[in-house]
Order: sequence, then structure tokens, then C-alpha cells
Amino acid sequence: MATTHKTRMLIIGSGPAGLTAAIYGARAGMEPIVVQGLQPGGQLTITTDVENYPGFRDVIQGPWLMQEMEAQAQHVGTRMMWDTITDIDLAGPPFRATGDSGDVYEADTLVIATGAQAKWLGVPGEQLLSGKGVSACATCDGFFYRGKKVVVIGGGNTAVEEALYLTNHAEHVTLIHRRDSLRAERILQQRLHAHPKISVLWNKAVAAFSGDPMAGGLKAVELVDTVTGEGSRVETDGAFVAIGHAPATSLFAGKLALDESGYIVVEPGTPKTAIPGVFACGDVMDHTYRQAVTAAGTGCMAALDAERFVAELDFATGQLTQA
Ligand code: FAD
Ligand code: NAP
Repeated sequence: MATTHKTRMLIIGSGPAGLTAAIYGARAGMEPIVVQGLQPGGQLTITTDVENYPGFRDVIQGPWLMQEMEAQAQHVGTRMMWDTITDIDLAGPPFRATGDSGDVYEADTLVIATGAQAKWLGVPGEQLLSGKGVSACATCDGFFYRGKKVVVIGGGNTAVEEALYLTNHAEHVTLIHRRDSLRAERILQQRLHAHPKISVLWNKAVAAFSGDPMAGGLKAVELVDTVTGEGSRVETDGAFVAIGHAPATSLFAGKLALDESGYIVVEPGTPKTAIPGVFACGDVMDHTYRQAVTAAGTGCMAALDAERFVAELDFATGQLTQA
């Protein structure tokens, strides 16, 4: 039977942003509920080595880090729910969210931490070799390609920035783009073309990634010329798919302001949305940094602001009751 769960603070999403918000919210006595969604622990659960999350001298594993965050959130009093929010009513407080289970969540304040997912090409070999040479995050995985050859697929700002970033590690970077011009900003294009370690392959679409996940991982990308249809092959140690990210915001379309790429719009430098009491943190509101530590940082900010909002709500309610 469907149940209504009441809480002072509802958090949608259980990645670094949502769990950090939960840790702060629980320690402030707000007894938060975290609805975990289809990917409990978020994006880091689909990677292996994490080397840039502060506090760990040795390489740690993404799934392990997320288990620890969840354990910490529960230890201080967070309730974790196995559910996915399918409908939301922001005409609060209280704000009401309905889960896939049929359960309803009623909250004085809402923290949205639904993240974003890298877009993938969907070609053969991509999933099989993901984490074995195929990646969607140069900042995360570039370090593993010191002195090696890598390719970047895409023609937007992300692809060009990833290519430039990878020159810090790789011996050579090949940018592969399906057209004969980039959509990246001019200044980034100038830097790209001026870089001695970068070359560009124009009019090439990736048809497949080839290699053996059990024996050395990725070996090559198979290409098709988008003008002539001719096939070719580029041998490489790593391939970075950089064709954009999709923020998980369909739930909020028409209810909250989204930017042209679908990210939740917040007041600059804060996690505040246009609706008082509704906060957004992590990758769902950040198309620039998209790191676990920045997601955790904005999760902390959202919880602190949510705590202030609830205190003001209590004060206003108290005033009304006295009047
Ligand atoms: P996410 O981690 O995306 O979590 C989103 C959460 O929202 C999930 O739990 C999901 O189930 C939930 N959710 C979505 N919709 C709903 C819904 N309707 N109802 C309920 N729940 C919902 N960053 C680093 O700093 N270092 C790294 O080494 C690194 N490696 C990476 C490797 C890979 C392969 C990938 C994909 C990313 C990597 N990142 C890394 C980036 C990092 O994972 C993200 O920046 C970070 O996870 C963002 O955290 P988040 O909490 O905002 O969102
Ligand atoms: P984007 O601008 O949408 O570019 C995506 C690129 O990937 C395009 O070049 C596109 O090709 C290509 N692509 C898409 N699907 C493909 C497919 N299936 N196969 C091959 N190529 C494919 O995405 P983005 O670069 O991630 O940028 C997203 C937004 O964030 C933009 O608004 C961008 O300006 C912003 N951003 C800004 C900065 C910055 O200011 N420094 C940095 C990163 C991102 P086509 O060109 O042929 O369509």
C-alpha cells in the first residue's frame, strides 16, 4: 500500500551531491530522506579508479567511495529510500514528490541532486570497453594516459577542452569530428589548432571501438568518412567521448527554469532556484566542473541554505500561531 513519508528535507539523488546534502542535513537535525533513483551512488559507481577526491593518498574505487558516503549519511540519521521520483509538485512548502513505488514524499524543503549523464555514441564496443580505454571524462581518466596516444570524439567546447587538457598527459591527441568545422568557441579552436600535440580528423564518424576488455583494452577506433563513406582505422590507447552531457531534469521541465542545455538555473554562486525552499546541487546545475568534489561542495551549500530556509519557515509559522 502506498505510504506518505513526511520529512523536513527531501533529497532527490544519491550521488556525491545528494549524500553530502544528507550528511549536513542530518547533522542539523532535519532527518532527511534520500530517494536514490535508478543509480544508487550516482555516476561514480560506474567507474573504477578515483585519484582526485581529497583525503585519500592511494587510489580508491568509485563504488567504494559512494558506499562510504552512504554509510556516513545513514550513520548520522538519513533515511535512504529505494525509489525513483516520477512526479513533483513544487507549489509548496510542503513540496510533494511521488515515487515509482506509489509512495508520496512531503517535505518542507527540497534538494535536487539528480546529476547528469554523459552522452554516448551507442556504437559497438563502446560499453564493453568503457573503463578499459573508453571514457567520457578526461579530468577523471586523463592521468592514466601519460605518454600515450589518445583520441577525443566531438566538436563542441567540451571536446576541445578535453583535447587541450589531455595534452598535459598524452604524447599525442587526435580530435575526431563528424563534420568539417567545430562548434567550439573561436578562442578554443585557435588554441586547439596551435597546439603541436593535437591533430584533427575531419568528417569522420566512429563506427566501432575495437579491443579486448580482458587483454589490454581498447586497441583502435574504426571510422567511416561522413562524406565519402570510406572506412579507416586509428590505433589508440584511449578514446574520450565528448559529445555532451544530459542533465536529469525532465521531471522539472515547465516547473523550474532550465538553461538551453537543460541544466537547472540557480542564483549564481548559490544552489537557490527561483522557488524559495527548492535547491539544486551537483551536476544537475553545473555544466562546467562536473566533478565529485564540486558536487559534494554544492551539496553542502544546498543543505546549509535548506537549513536556513526551514528555520525561517519555523519562525514565520511561530509568529502566525502567536498572532
Ligand atoms: P550523480 O552522481 O549523477 O548522481 C545522480 C543521482 O540522482 C543518482 O543517484 C540517480 O539515481 C539519482 N536520480 C536521478 N534521477 C532521479 C529521480 N527521478 N529520482 C530519484 N533519484 C534520481 N569525478 C571526479 O571527481 N573524479 C573522478 O575520477 C570521476 N570519474 C568519473 C568517471 C565516470 C565514468 C563518470 C561517468 C563520471 C566521473 N566523475 C568523476 C564525475 C562524477 O562522477 C560526477 O561529477 C558526480 O558523480 C556528480 O554527482 P551528483 O551527485 O551531482 O550526480
Ligand atoms: P555540444 O556543444 O552540444 O557539442 C557536442 C558536439 O558533439 C558537437 O560538435 C556534435 O557534433 C558532437 N556530437 C553530438 N552527437 C554526436 C554523435 N552521435 N556522434 C558524433 N558527434 C556527435 O556539447 P558540449 O561541447 O558538451 O557543450 C555543451 C554546452 O556546455 C554548450 O553550451 C557549451 O558551450 C557549454 N560548455 C562551455 C564550456 C566553456 O565555456 N568553457 C565548456 C564546456 C561546455 P555537431 O557539431 O556536428 O553537432
